[in-house]
This record gives sequence, structure tokens and C-alpha cells, in this order.
Amino acid sequence: MPAQRMDGRRLAALYREKVKEEVLELKTQGISPRLVVVLVGSDPASLTYVQNKVKAAQEGAIRSEVLRFPETVREEELLETIARLSADDDVDGVLVQLPLPQGLDKEKVIEQIAPEKDVDGFTYQNVGRVMLGQSRALYPCTPQGIIALLDAYRIPLLGEEAVVVGRSDIVGRPVAQLLLSRHATVTIAHSKTRHLGEITRRAQVLIVAAGVRELITGDMVKEGAVVIDVGIHRRADGTLTGDVEADSVREKARLLSPVPGGVGPMTIAMLLLNTVKAARLRRGLPFHAPTIMFAE
Ligand code: NDP
Repeated sequence: MPAQRMDGRRLAALYREKVKEEVLELKTQGISPRLVVVLVGSDPASLTYVQNKVKAAQEGAIRSEVLRFPETVREEELLETIARLSADDDVDGVLVQLPLPQGLDKEKVIEQIAPEKDVDGFTYQNVGRVMLGQSRALYPCTPQGIIALLDAYRIPLLGEEAVVVGRSDIVGRPVAQLLLSRHATVTIAHSKTRHLGEITRRAQVLIVAAGVRELITGDMVKEGAVVIDVGIHRRADGTLTGDVEADSVREKARLLSPVPGGVGPMTIAMLLLNTVKAARLRRGLPFHAPTIMFAE
């Protein structure tokens, strides 16, 4: 039987509704969460991502705006701005859209974000908290969205064999940490891994974030596995595809996240959730992470 499609779009919509309810509730207490997105340069893909984030935030009743800088901005000016936003009591979330233009020090810029407002979860304090399994961390959005997708379909992780293909700072490493926190047995594969297929075939849960179009084919997947495709690639005809060859993998997997409509929408939903989490935690209010599950 071909794999069931994991509906990230529907799940993201449910999370966004939940976030909106939470924001409206906070407003009754005089708290109006605000997200500021910093964009440097005019890369069209980055501009689209940023616009989508701001629009989604506004739809979730979160005050949100883009702060744009030209590619020629002096690093000091950028750092000063981020420091100002970090110190501004009327700002709950600060996000710097990556990649930054050449000549700007990404690490310096990210570390200028106050960890309690770092809604992308990229500062070393949040990276460390994720590594230590601390729930007050602001988890990076894509890995958090992947776990939410697995939870929605009630995928057991405890004791299960999970393989993550990719070890980037924003997806591979943190998702591996989150899977470990959920007691999966985790293997991380990367570009130097030998015999990739042998490793991926062990996985009950396979997360693919390699940035290589259709790298994972059906013969590399265990019968009945759950496969999450993080990759996004545009074909010549304008349609999108992922890091997984969907046609062949669908014949082996039990569940497969599609591209588009899988991880992508979840990433944005988790950004909004992080903004609410940041708004609550920095005021000393408790935050209970919602878990949405689809009916069996
Ligand atoms: P990076 O390029 O930063 O990292 C890719 C990782 O995959 C690296 O660790 C690399 O290994 C590894 N890799 C590359 N080639 C192979 C291979 N042949 N076999 C095994 N491992 C390999 O990518 P990102 O993590 O940022 O993104 C991955 C994909 O996910 C991209 O397509 C990106 O567009 C997409 N993405 C989607 C998001 C969403 O919201 N849906 C969000 C973020 C990313 P090494 O470390 O050795 O170089």
C-alpha cells in the first residue's frame, strides 16, 4: 500500500489557530506579542520568506514588521540595531533572515540577539538548551515542526531507530538532538558517510535534510518506515520536489511528508509558536507547548 501523506499544511493551520487563540488571550492581559524580522539585502528568495513570515504572524494577531537594510550596511549599524531590539521591552521576537550578504559576520550578528527573543533558536544559549533537553529553550523552527508532524501522526520514538541525513546547524543537528530527547536511537549521516543506503535502511524514522534533490530512493528505505522530507528544490517546470524521490519511496514507506505541504508550513507555524513562547517566558508566565494529534 502506498505511503500515507503527512499533511503539514493542515497541521500547521491547526497550530496557527492555537497560537492565535493564545495571542488573543494574552491581549486580554495587556500583552501584545511583537515579532521583528531583520532583512539585509534584496535576495528575492529571502524577501519572499520574510514576507510570508510577517504575513503569517499578522494573521495570527502577532504584531510584526520587517526592518530592511541595504547590502552595504555597516556591520556595526546592524549589530547596534539588533542590540536595541534585544533591549526593547516592546519586542518579543527578533529574527535575522539568513543567509546574510558576504562581508557580514553571521555568528556575531546572531549572538547579538537576546536568547529569550531568539525565535529562530540559533543563539548558542538556545542551541545549548536544546542539547541539554531543557524545555525553556526556544527550539529551532524546522526541527520543532518535524517533531510536531511526527507527534500528530502518533509516531513512537522511544527506543526507535531514527536516522537523520544532514548535519546542518539549522536542521540536521538540532532535529537529531530533539529525537534523542525523545529517546530515539539516533544516527546522523552526512556527505562523508559511507554506504548511505545501508544506514538509511535501518531507520524506522528517516529525516532527510541533505539539500540534494531526490537523494533518497525507495531502495534506501525500510519497508514501513516514516519518512520526513525537509528538502526543497525547484524543477525546471517550476514545480517543487524534495530530497526524497517520492514515487519510489512512497511504495516502501508507511508515511511520507510531501514537498510542498509537509515540513515547510510547519516551520512557519513553529515560528509563531516560538514568538508566543518568548512573550510568555520573558514575563515569567508559564508556557505549555501544545501537542496536536490527528484522529486515528
Ligand atoms: P545544508 O546544505 O546546510 O546541509 C546539508 C547537509 O546534508 C550537510 O550536513 C551535508 O553534509 C549533508 N549532505 C549533503 N550531501 C549529502 C549526501 N550526498 N549524502 C548525505 N548527506 C549529504 O542544508 P540545510 O540543512 O540548511 O537544508 C537541507 C534542505 O532542507 C535544503 O533543501 C533546504 O532548502 C531545505 N530546508 C527546508 C526548510 C523547510 O522549512 N522546509 C527549512 C530549512 C531547510 P556535510 O555536513 O558533510 O557537508
